[in-house]
Amino acid sequence: MASPLQPVRGTRDLIGEDFRRHHHVAETARRVTALYGFEEWATPIFEDTRVFARSLGDTSDVVTKEMYTFTDRGGDSITLRPENTAGVCRALVSNGLTQSNLPRKVFYAGPMFRYERPQKGRYRQFHQIGAEILGAAEPLADAEVIAAGWDILKALSIAEGVVLEINTLGDAESRDAYRAALVAYFTGHRERLSEDSRVRLEKNPLRILDSKDEGDKAIVANAPPMKDYLTEAASSFYAQVQSYLARFGVPFRQNDRIVRGLDYYSHTAFEFVTDRLGAQGTVMAGGRYNGLVEEMGGPSTPSVGWAAGMERLSMLLTEAPAAPRPVAVIPVGEAQEGAALDLAQKLRAAGVVTEIGYKGNLKRRMERANRLSARAALILGEEEAAKGVVQLRNLDAGTQESVTPDEAVRRLSA
Ligand code: ATP
Ligand code: MG
Repeated sequence: MASPLQPVRGTRDLIGEDFRRHHHVAETARRVTALYGFEEWATPIFEDTRVFARSLGDTSDVVTKEMYTFTDRGGDSITLRPENTAGVCRALVSNGLTQSNLPRKVFYAGPMFRYERPQKGRYRQFHQIGAEILGAAEPLADAEVIAAGWDILKALSIAEGVVLEINTLGDAESRDAYRAALVAYFTGHRERLSEDSRVRLEKNPLRILDSKDEGDKAIVANAPPMKDYLTEAASSFYAQVQSYLARFGVPFRQNDRIVRGLDYYSHTAFEFVTDRLGAQGTVMAGGRYNGLVEEMGGPSTPSVGWAAGMERLSMLLTEAPAAPRPVAVIPVGEAQEGAALDLAQKLRAAGVVTEIGYKGNLKRRMERANRLSARAALILGEEEAAKGVVQLRNLDAGTQESVTPDEAVRRLSA
C-alpha cells in the first residue's frame, strides 16, 4: 500500500462537528446580514497578483511574507486571495457597478490563503465571512456595518466576552501630521526597533504600531496617540461613528493602538477581540477604506467593512450544532424493500431526514439506526403489509404502534 497522504501543513478538513460549526457560522452571518440589506457575492479565489499588491500596501505582512503567488502556465502572476475586500472592489469596477445603485452592501464567505506559521486559530487556508458597504462616506455606514457584525456575534451566542475596540486613523491631513510625529518618536528609538520596523520607519511608520515583535511593543506603548493629531473634520466624523454605535447599542472601547495591518484604511478602524482564544484574540476586524476602489481603476468610492475568521468564531461556539436525527426505514425481508423505498421517498418529499439501510436483518438494521441516533424507525414486515400498516417505533420513548404509511409521514413531518 502507498503511504497515506496528509493534508498540506496549515490546512484542515472540515468533517462532522467541525463542518457543522463552520456551516452554522456562515448561515447565521448570511441571515443577519440579509436583514441589513446585504447581498451575497462570490469572487474568484485567485486573482491577478496586482489586485492585492496594489491595495494591501507593499509593506504589509500579508504582501511581503504571506501571499501564495505563482506564475501560471500562461505566464501570468496569480495570487490565491489572502483576503476578499480587494477582490470585491475589483469586482465592483470590473462589472461596471461603480456608477449606479450605490451604496451597495456586500456579504461574502469563503476560503482565504496566507503563508503563515500555523498554530491554534491560525491556518494557511482559513475562511472568512465579511461585509462591505461600498460607496457610502457617511459615519452611519461605519456604525451600521459594525452593528451587523455585533448582531452576528449575538446570534451565535458568543458576544459575551467579546469587546469592540475602535480607533480612528483620521483623514489624509491628520495622518500626515501623525506620521511626522511617529517618525520623530520612533527615530529616537531606532536602535531598539526590530529590523522589520526599521524598514517600516522608512516606508510606513504607522505600521510599526501593529508590530507583533515584543521589543517593538514596548516602544509602541509610549508612542504618541493618533487622537492628538486629528483635524476638526476627522474628529467630528469619529464622534458621529461613536454616537451611532451607542444608538445601535453596540458597546465599545477606544484603543489608540488599533491601526490594522493593511494599507488601505482611513478614519474608522476596529477589532472585535476576546481573551478566550489565547494569542489569536481578534475575531472580526475592519475599517474604512476610501481609496481602494480607485486603486482598482474605479472612481472615488468611499467604503467601510470588516472580515471575521470563521475558524475563530467556530472555536468560540460553546456547543456544536447537533447533526439532524434521521428516521430509519426498515424492510423486514426482501419482499418489503419496494414498499420501504416508496415510503422513504414520501418522507423525504415531506422534508423528513430519512435513512434506508442497504442490507441486513431487522437486528442489524436497528443497530445501525441507533448508531445514527435515529429518532424513529418505521418497520415494514409481511404481516403489516397484509394489513396496510407499518410499525412506528419511537426510539427515544421505546414505544411502538401500528399506523398507516400516510399517518406515519404525517406524524414524523409534524
Ligand atoms: P492577525 O493580527 O491575527 O494576523 P490580521 O490583521 O492579519 O490578523 P485580517 O487581515 O484583519 O487579520 O483578517 C480578519 C480576520 O481574519 C482576523 O481577525 C482573524 O479572525 C482572521 N484571520 C486572519 N488570518 C488568519 C489565519 N491565518 N487563520 C485563521 N484566521 C485568520
Ligand atoms: Mg495576519
